[in-house]
Amino acid sequence: MFLTITLYDISVLDYHLHLWPHGQRDKSPTIDELARYCEAAQKNGVQEIAITEHLFRFRQVDAFLGGFFNQYPDSPVRSIMEHYWSEHARADLDTYVEVALEAKSAGLPIVLGMEVDYYPGKMHQVSEFLAGYPFDVLLGSIHWLGAWPFDHISDPVIMAEWDTYGIENAWESYTRSLEELADSGAVDVLAHPDLVKVAGHFPQVPQEFYDRMAEAARDSKLSAEVSSAGWRKPVEQVYPDPYLLRKFFEYGVPITTASDSHGIADVAYRAEEIKSYVSSIGYRSLSGFRDRKSYLVEL
Ligand SMILES: [Zn+2]
Ligand SMILES: [Zn+2]
Repeated sequence: MFLTITLYDISVLDYHLHLWPHGQRDKSPTIDELARYCEAAQKNGVQEIAITEHLFRFRQVDAFLGGFFNQYPDSPVRSIMEHYWSEHARADLDTYVEVALEAKSAGLPIVLGMEVDYYPGKMHQVSEFLAGYPFDVLLGSIHWLGAWPFDHISDPVIMAEWDTYGIENAWESYTRSLEELADSGAVDVLAHPDLVKVAGHFPQVPQEFYDRMAEAARDSKLSAEVSSAGWRKPVEQVYPDPYLLRKFFEYGVPITTASDSHGIADVAYRAEEIKSYVSSIGYRSLSGFRDRKSYLVEL
């Protein structure tokens, strides 16, 4: 049984959605689940969604990316990363893809995506692997610096590492990783582009880093994501910062909008506010994606 979807003019997108919370594992998606996501999105004025589960949640990926953190020195932080990885790399990618394609052909307003992390020196392999699947959109994210998953805000060991690593150093490493990821050509959209602020730590002059992030998107012809997820994090700010979003606009960088919900609860989270935010900067359209090619969605 499929839900009847009323088609409105597409006005807002939620192009960053997870099916499973971190900690939940071994679960396969169903069409009913995807239909419920679409329904929740439409209730909140979002007309098209992309499911973008983390690449590292799939056991097919474990074969060539598993243990990537072992190139970094042993440390408590690396042990946490190792445990995190083994907890996550369990879902079946083929089922994920099949169910999403079935939902698409059933007429649900959904596209098939993936959230892809940066694996230094391995992005060529990642690209080759992803090319074997019919993805509509690939998000690029920096969630860890070396073996340090700096955005695990509920883990005191990970958060303490901010003092050791240093804020300026973290912003520098994050920005360099983002530049390299953009340059790799492996992804279409820079997800939560200033995620490095997640825990509320800012360098002396964040604008220097924002400038580089905007240049990376412009030079690699990527879209940038505007995400309400930052409002749910300690920083309590939207991604990206208004200064950075203005830079993206000035450089002609297209945008997507997103909630980064991990489960159905936050689908389309504060979508109206996101729409007002991007409009206030000057954006009149968003980027939708099919087969990794973008098209314009009027706001
Ligand atoms: Zn993310
Ligand atoms: Zn995400």
